[in-house]
Amino acid sequence: MELCEMEKIQIEKMVDSLLDLFGYSKEDQYVDIVEFTKKMGFTVGNADLDENEDGFLLISQDRRVIAVNSDRPMEWKRFIIAHEFSHFILHYVLSDDFKNPTQESVLLHRENKKGRNESENDADYFAAALLMPRKTFKKQYEKYKSEGLDDNVIYFHLATIFSVPLESAKRRVNEIKELDDQK
Ligand SMILES: [Zn+2]
Repeated sequence: MELCEMEKIQIEKMVDSLLDLFGYSKEDQYVDIVEFTKKMGFTVGNADLDENEDGFLLISQDRRVIAVNSDRPMEWKRFIIAHEFSHFILHYVLSDDFKNPTQESVLLHRENKKGRNESENDADYFAAALLMPRKTFKKQYEKYKSEGLDDNVIYFHLATIFSVPLESAKRRVNEIKELDDQK
């Protein structure tokens, strides 16, 4: 299911505050997602996983771990890390478990291609907003547009600059256009 505009705007705001906290400035483009998650208390690393598994998130009282399938290309790894972090914010920090933690509170979320559902869409949206911050991403898109570049060429350049999968860059351009059209 598609996220509604309200939810998207809330996510954009949450991401903006987190990026501010991280020290991301409007001049920056590429978000160092490993440094970002480390700063948020995570241990991040590669793991030897099944071909159909992208990675996992493990949260307990004293541990925050994000692991990615070591076989994935670098830009996919970045997206997976951002996606796992998004689950932490959307489905853990904002849940009751976080407000009243117990010794036994453990969250283990595994990314399996076969198990996609609605909360996965939320996490994907959040991850895209984090890796392609709305204002800087849009500014760069418009710069290319003013140079007369074709959209497909622009997606390629944006994916390179922001170090994300090509399809993520393309989707983000359209998501931002949809948000802008609301006003
Ligand atoms: Zn997920």
